[in-house]
Amino acid sequence: MKSEGIVLSETDYKETSKIVNLYTPMGKIGVKALGSKRIKNGLLGFTNTGNTVEFVATDSSLPTLEEYTILDSIYTRFDDLKTAKALGVVIRILNDLPADIDNKRLYPFVKGIVEALGKVNNDKVIAVFLIKILYVYGIAPNLKSCVKCGSTNELSFVPELGGAVCKDHGLGNIESLKIWNEYYYDKKKLNDYSDTDFNLLLGEIKAYYNYHLGYRINY
Ligand SMILES: [Zn+2]
Repeated sequence: MKSEGIVLSETDYKETSKIVNLYTPMGKIGVKALGSKRIKNGLLGFTNTGNTVEFVATDSSLPTLEEYTILDSIYTRFDDLKTAKALGVVIRILNDLPADIDNKRLYPFVKGIVEALGKVNNDKVIAVFLIKILYVYGIAPNLKSCVKCGSTNELSFVPELGGAVCKDHGLGNIESLKIWNEYYYDKKKLNDYSDTDFNLLLGEIKAYYNYHLGYRINY
């Protein structure tokens, strides 16, 4: 098999080998990487969490790595702790993805996110990622009308209530509602999404995940 993938984790396997778990267009797979002489440049690039690699492996239930090249090395961008933390958020979500999703469609988006870490504002990358990935979980925040009465007038965003509220049913952030709509529905390049108060937005995203998924985002 030949594929590309993003390294999620690695575990030791026997004396000199590793099992490397990758997120690929086929979903999550484990590849056995033996201490083989055929791997010219050692295994470091293949075992480094967050690296994007292209690889050839045997066709078996636990494929064995035959060769690989690094497409994107995140290691060089790890000089600030924030990038490492942001990568941690992405990796954990990928590890927790439901099994029945369209990975072929999701993979290019995830690849773009990982590539942008440490280059584009990490807060923005994580905010776009976390809002867009809700779609994958089949979760649609109520962004077009009031969650309580269906009114479309004078809406603002309250994460704990699940989305937009009219002024009779709550008072959230009006700017946020615009950003949530843009990030959830638009399909732009990462750089083209609007900037906003990312502290506020990330706070809302964490609250939303916490209330509606019981999922704590550690960022
Ligand atoms: Zn209302």
